[in-house]
Amino acid sequence: MTTDYSEYAYSEDSVLCGQCGRRQSLDSNGEAPGWLYVEIDRDVGQSIDRDFCCQEHAADWLQKPLPEPKPFSVPDRTPKERLFLGVRVVLVLYGIAAVLIGTWTLVRWIRPDW
Ligand SMILES: [Zn+2]
Repeated sequence: MTTDYSEYAYSEDSVLCGQCGRRQSLDSNGEAPGWLYVEIDRDVGQSIDRDFCCQEHAADWLQKPLPEPKPFSVPDRTPKERLFLGVRVVLVLYGIAAVLIGTWTLVRWIRPDW
């Protein structure tokens, strides 16, 4: 019996073998020496990535059909995120307006007859 590790669990301080489920702590460089990292890009703009404890487990995993792509969904924004997005849009527009006004003022200073 094989266990399905298709729902890969990410962790900042360890990696999980996509085939056998073995967990390995990352070293001080954030790496797991001797482990393999496999990334597969799909046509639909999604990628699948897995860590493997050895080449044999990567090969075993690659022989199986790839997991179905998850439907694309935009995460819902919280009111706080919408507020920050709105503030950023206003600041960008303000910056663009300031550059345009500054450029126009410089042109008028160089060529007052315009
Ligand atoms: Zn493994």
